[in-house]
Amino acid sequence: MHKLRAMCREMPHENYSWLIYCRAPRSAVILGGSQLKLKQLLFAVLLLGIVSGAWVLQGYMSMESARRDVLMMDTFVSVLADGRQAEKVLDDAMVEMQRLEALLSAHVAGSDVYRINNARGEQVSVSAETIEVLVVAEEAFRKSNGAFDVTLGAVLKLWGFGTDDRHVPSAAELLEVMAGVGFAQVEFSREDQWVRLKHPETRLDFGGVAKGFIVDRAAEFIADRGIRHAVVDAGGDVRIVGGRPNIPRWRGARPARVGVQDPVTRANLIAVVSVMDAAVLTSGDYERYFMEDGVRYSHIIDPRTGRPVQGLSSVTIVASKAVVADALATAVMVLGPEAGMSLIEALDGVEALLITAEQELIMSSGMAALTEILR
Ligand code: ADP
Ligand code: MG
Repeated sequence: MHKLRAMCREMPHENYSWLIYCRAPRSAVILGGSQLKLKQLLFAVLLLGIVSGAWVLQGYMSMESARRDVLMMDTFVSVLADGRQAEKVLDDAMVEMQRLEALLSAHVAGSDVYRINNARGEQVSVSAETIEVLVVAEEAFRKSNGAFDVTLGAVLKLWGFGTDDRHVPSAAELLEVMAGVGFAQVEFSREDQWVRLKHPETRLDFGGVAKGFIVDRAAEFIADRGIRHAVVDAGGDVRIVGGRPNIPRWRGARPARVGVQDPVTRANLIAVVSVMDAAVLTSGDYERYFMEDGVRYSHIIDPRTGRPVQGLSSVTIVASKAVVADALATAVMVLGPEAGMSLIEALDGVEALLITAEQELIMSSGMAALTEILR
């Protein structure tokens, strides 16, 4: 009663001066033993409402769907992102991708790879990124029994890939440059960040991994800045952050659907692969090649012969990282369906869809669960 009285406003009645006009107790709310007046509560609720409303509004207003389409790495690059400050994040991501391309392309004068290739056997100080790519390349070389080999630079140049003059070289020319092929010709220090090519004919070419590496870096750059859903697509080298962008928040995350082109009728899709937080990447003999005397020469070289591979039309790899998928796709193109598929089955978390020259589809054990065939 004491407490009760304390909460009441003592308002003497004009006739009964002893009467305490009390209204507080009826509408007081018990909060952990203490009592709060309705007015105070309403005020608190109102304040909370205003503060949280403003916070949600601010969140929604900075929630953007952004997209960039640019020509980079000799292909069309599209990046989509949903999230806070997506426009700004994508602008910064494009700058980062350009920086990495300028480091890793053999054709850009002054790049790390260019300097290594022109050092005449001297040690060359390089960036941490170049060392990272070399580490992946060495592992891919080992796991693929040499089918994936970044020391094919001189061979690729001899065939004219990366130039306007693509042609079949003579056997003698080929023999000369083949002397420099093999990862054993590359010496590098992870700690001191230098690279040296031992043989005078050896030249590096990161064309089989650099795109995947840059796609990964862009995806990680975007995810690190709080973007929840994004797609980074460099000419079919795709990495998904979260799930499909442009889905209303209330519907939750959905897998992104990545199309696999029909190698013959390229406007058509042959399959759709659905993934979240993964890379889906296709290597094919139908994108970059040249014809001579009715023969098609693809830009993927068999390191054992120094000649373009023949056999598979395309290889699609699903893996957690695009750099791994990129190297593996090139390796499987070289190895062919049997040896290629046994390499994929031996690796954890990697799946493959192969399209043979006869347009037959071959899938690894876990691929069918991710794939919808469209024919
Ligand atoms: P893209 O996505 O551009 O088609 P790929 O991932 O299929 O590229 O790799 C092809 C590129 O890899 C070639 O252009 C060349 O630079 C390089 N390359 C070709 N043959 C090999 C090989 N056996 N090992 C490693 N890299 C290769
Ligand atoms: Mg590749």
